[in-house]
Amino acid sequence: MREDDLQRAAMMLHHRKEHLAQGDPIAKPIVMTSAYHLPTVQAGGHFYTRAGNPTWDAVEAQLTLLEDAPSLAFPSGMAAISAALMACVQGGGRVVLPSDGYYVTRVFAETFLRPLGVDVQFLAARDYAAADFAGASVVYVETPTNPFLDMVDIAGVAARAHAAGAKVIVDNTTMTPLLQRPLDLGADLVVAADTKAPAGHGDVLFGHVAGRNGALMTRVSDWRRMSGAIPSPFDAWLVHRGLETLELRLTRMCENAGEIARRLQGHKALTALRYLGLPEDRDHDLARRQMSGFGFLIGMTFADEGRAERFLSRCPMIEQATSFGGVHTSGERRARWGDGVPLGFVRLSVGIEPLGPLWAAIETALIE
Ligand SMILES: *Cc1c(COP(=O)(O)O)cnc(C)c1O
Repeated sequence: MREDDLQRAAMMLHHRKEHLAQGDPIAKPIVMTSAYHLPTVQAGGHFYTRAGNPTWDAVEAQLTLLEDAPSLAFPSGMAAISAALMACVQGGGRVVLPSDGYYVTRVFAETFLRPLGVDVQFLAARDYAAADFAGASVVYVETPTNPFLDMVDIAGVAARAHAAGAKVIVDNTTMTPLLQRPLDLGADLVVAADTKAPAGHGDVLFGHVAGRNGALMTRVSDWRRMSGAIPSPFDAWLVHRGLETLELRLTRMCENAGEIARRLQGHKALTALRYLGLPEDRDHDLARRQMSGFGFLIGMTFADEGRAERFLSRCPMIEQATSFGGVHTSGERRARWGDGVPLGFVRLSVGIEPLGPLWAAIETALIE
């Protein structure tokens, strides 16, 4: 992480301090209420929880510091993504989406945007670099992609998309605002599933949208209030707690992932290996330029499905689950969902376990 990332992480840990009065709790309370004392509607403040809640305010204050941009909390990554898309799309306009990114984003566009008259176009992340965005109203980027870790040059794509008059949305889930800063690179909106590393403990779904364009963020906030896609105060409290250790967890996760990837290089159990921090990786140079860390995801390709499944079920330190970014190392053979990756491809999400025991468990499970 860079100095300014660390500065933001440190400020986030003290964000409540200046608002505390004598006797206030240091830990953020969970405010479970639907309505607020409202003798008059003129005085401002909270009035109804579909429009605002003090526990979201706290998590939004943290996210606003991390993103260095106004941020709105959502009950899941998909709630944030659909809100950002609904704020930007225009009937008859064209939306460019990755064909190899998060699956549900694609299905959402096909199921709900296409019937509204939106021209939905899918493009592989690798093809964004040479794409013609003329006539597009939204260019939606996911980088590095989940699960294959292909990268898109955000600044380059944003410049060309803006020249064509399109808005740019970036899904930053795989990196978080501490490792990649799409808004600084020209994105209009950033969306993320805080279900993953930001919450970090695998016990809550959450998401956010951040952006510096006031009119656009007002539309996102209007969408949340009118569609009713609001997070629960309890979930917001869990994410508030998770975010306090994000920098610490990410540091360990990225260090572990870097070392494990180095040790996996050339391993005879694998036919291919992807980690953006390896100098041999085809996107390594872009990763160096665009991100301030290489993340915690490793792509391991086994010769076939059986070998991949055997590795996953043998390793005592890999949770077999379809999520990532948590404290526990987890892994999944992605082709079981129909992702366009080799049958033996495993997405490994490296956790915070001490490296020695974790590597020993992985190494033993790799022996045929
Ligand atoms: C998990 C994920 C999402 C969706 O998040 P949910 O909280 O499950 O709705 C969106 N984009 C990416 C890249 C993801 O990994």
